[in-house]
Amino acid sequence: DAKDTTVKDVAASPKASTQKPSSGGKEKATFVSLARNSDLWELVDSIRHVEDRFNHRFHYDWVFLNDEEFNEEFKKVTSELVSGKTSYGVIPNEQWSFPPWIDVDKAAAVREEMRQKKIIYGDSISYRHMCRYESGFFFRHPLLDDYEWYWRVEPGIKIFCDVDYDVFKFMKEKGKVYGFTITLPEYKETIPTLWDTTKEFIKENPQYLPEDNLMQWVSDDGGASYNGCHYWSNFEIASLDFWRSEAYLKYFDYLDKKGGFFYERWGDAPVHSIAASLFLSKDKIQFFGDVGYYHIPFNNCPIDETVRAKKKCMCNPNDDFTFKGYSCTNKFFKLTNLQKPVGWEKYAD
Ligand code: GDP
Ligand code: MN
Repeated sequence: DAKDTTVKDVAASPKASTQKPSSGGKEKATFVSLARNSDLWELVDSIRHVEDRFNHRFHYDWVFLNDEEFNEEFKKVTSELVSGKTSYGVIPNEQWSFPPWIDVDKAAAVREEMRQKKIIYGDSISYRHMCRYESGFFFRHPLLDDYEWYWRVEPGIKIFCDVDYDVFKFMKEKGKVYGFTITLPEYKETIPTLWDTTKEFIKENPQYLPEDNLMQWVSDDGGASYNGCHYWSNFEIASLDFWRSEAYLKYFDYLDKKGGFFYERWGDAPVHSIAASLFLSKDKIQFFGDVGYYHIPFNNCPIDETVRAKKKCMCNPNDDFTFKGYSCTNKFFKLTNLQKPVGWEKYAD
């Protein structure tokens, strides 16, 4: 009768149940988006993509972080779209401001110089706070305390394919720590001393580097210089505990004290990538080639037709960046002995 149906519907609804019925329940995992209130509608696009392609099956939670309070509209609209629990956090001011050891006049002079040189985001203060926050603090936010895994989602992204398996469970079961979709070299003007600083750190702390790390992926000359290769961090499926590890916390602190987030324009992508490449063995890094991903201006689209058909991808393989000359994923495949899909040469330029 009608009453029975009501009860059943409630029990089956995503919000009522926090456990995935099959295969041992959910992982301690969440989506995380750093965003401004003004990012709402672009973020709505992203959420819709992620829910339709993945999360409607799994109902993972979503943590939203902001340097200001989220407004009611932001909370209302996003919580209606996410099939898991949503929570909204404000970033402590010390984590989104100039630390006391930074010479703000020197930092201002750098911004002016970078403005004249037209270096992307070179004149922006907020972008620097963002990069520093994503590098060193998001994983320490109390709203993330109970989670082991996260999937970072930015405004305006697209997911092209069905993700019909639990990516977090996959990471855990395969012993993976960091997952990516797209790689490319960083603009050198934004990181003039990042590598030298890193070299100082690893000279003082060689114990953090396992032998089978991916040094060769970030350096073409045995560690003398950085080739700029980085995992594009607007997409990350990764372990929070890696960023919480002694190696990474010490590394971040070392970088932070040198001031390069403000005296240069160090991005969280090269910082995360160098750390993952040096402090992890190479088998811990996962290339997600079957998700299909877009963030302006690059696409990841499975070039294997059978994958696109099986996963109902809605992307053009000609747009795939993976095997293009400028992509660092070619080198990743070589160093980790991954086999390229048949016919990849056709998509190389
Ligand atoms: P891009 O992808 O490098 O061009 O940089 P984005 O503008 O996409 O910023 C990266 C991430 O940080 C996105 O999730 C943005 O929503 C977020 N973000 C950037 N600037 C700010 C800011 O000033 N405040 C907040 N709360 N989030 C920001
Ligand atoms: Mn972005």
